Amino acid sequence: MKDDVKKIFVEKFKTEPLIVRSPGRINIIGEHTDYNNGFVLPAAIDKAIYIAASKRDDYLISLHAANFNEDFTVKISEIAPSKQNWPNYILGIVDQLKKINKNITGFNAVVDGDVPLGAGLSSSAAVECATVFALNELFELQLDKMQMVKLAQAAEHAFAGVKVGIMDMFASMFGKKENVIKLDCRSLQYEYVPFHLPGIKIVLLNTNVKHSLASTEYNTRRKECEQGVEWIKENHPEVNSLRDATIEMLNTMVLPKDKLVYKRCRFIVEEIQRLLQACEDLKKDDVSALGKKMFATHDGLSKDYEVSCKELDFLVDAVRNNKNVFGARMMGGGFGGCTINLVKEEAVENLVEDVGNIYQKEMNLPLTAYIVSIEDGTSVLK
Ligand code: ADP
Ligand code: MG
Repeated sequence: MKDDVKKIFVEKFKTEPLIVRSPGRINIIGEHTDYNNGFVLPAAIDKAIYIAASKRDDYLISLHAANFNEDFTVKISEIAPSKQNWPNYILGIVDQLKKINKNITGFNAVVDGDVPLGAGLSSSAAVECATVFALNELFELQLDKMQMVKLAQAAEHAFAGVKVGIMDMFASMFGKKENVIKLDCRSLQYEYVPFHLPGIKIVLLNTNVKHSLASTEYNTRRKECEQGVEWIKENHPEVNSLRDATIEMLNTMVLPKDKLVYKRCRFIVEEIQRLLQACEDLKKDDVSALGKKMFATHDGLSKDYEVSCKELDFLVDAVRNNKNVFGARMMGGGFGGCTINLVKEEAVENLVEDVGNIYQKEMNLPLTAYIVSIEDGTSVLK
């Protein structure tokens, strides 16, 4: 991949580029906890975006997307969100740099990668992190990784119009080989937890669907969580998010008012607890205990938080009683994308084939599988 992007760049721009790799990400457990100030447990993977870039002598940005075989050129002074979409994740970074008075001149860039688009592995965050890291190097902007993560998040808000949390960019930038990141979304403090499960593979099964409900339901869930917090606050003014709430508070302050809001909030409070216990499981290399929690997370997301869909439920149910599968759950915001499965290495091939066949038969859809490993975050490739 690195050689490909370099070759395309040199053919196009006749000069040697700087090359930056920035990975996609998974999340082991901790879903919908980010905007509730809780914890998440993501990791960077071996699928990544590659950017080859060099400075220009003028004020043009000249871009090429290898995956789409498309070009895009614009003057720095004239950047604005584009209908072409893919340039936005790069231009959004330039726009944010301008806002903090990190003024850059023109540059050339080729972007390429093997993170599947829209599958919930955060290809968009990978493009943003690769871009900001490359520009930071090329123009010696002296930004640290945390500044770059926040800038990438702001770029997605402004130029892609998606109010994403910070997890995706954080995981891409700060990933560490064979470790997951226990990220506290309230303080942004983080800790690496070794992911050492010999003989186990992380298998992602892509439903290949994305239901249009996703964004409206996402906003509704955020409001339901805020409502729960408001009711708790009447008696506990110190509670500012579900991170600070307990099941007992929910039982006394939220349940009598609204059962649905209660169900949503209880899932979040339980999920934060589950994540903390999952970190203890990982420290003991206890894959069975971790796997059970993943199934519990799925059931909570499906029945209480209600952000699953029939395809995701089908894939989790298909492996639920399989002795070679320790844990499985839907991953990401919901209504489509992938499930994440912990599978015994020797059983992966058959599992993918069997589940693929029944998925095709029952859902009339193809199944795509990715076997991923946990790798380092954003870096310059020498
Ligand atoms: P994801 O869950 O993968 O982040 P998004 O819809 O947020 O899905 O982002 C996908 C978008 O990111 C693509 O439509 C494209 O604009 C951009 N993108 C992802 N990968 C690439 C790539 N290899 N080259 C150019 N743009 C890319
Ligand atoms: Mg994205």
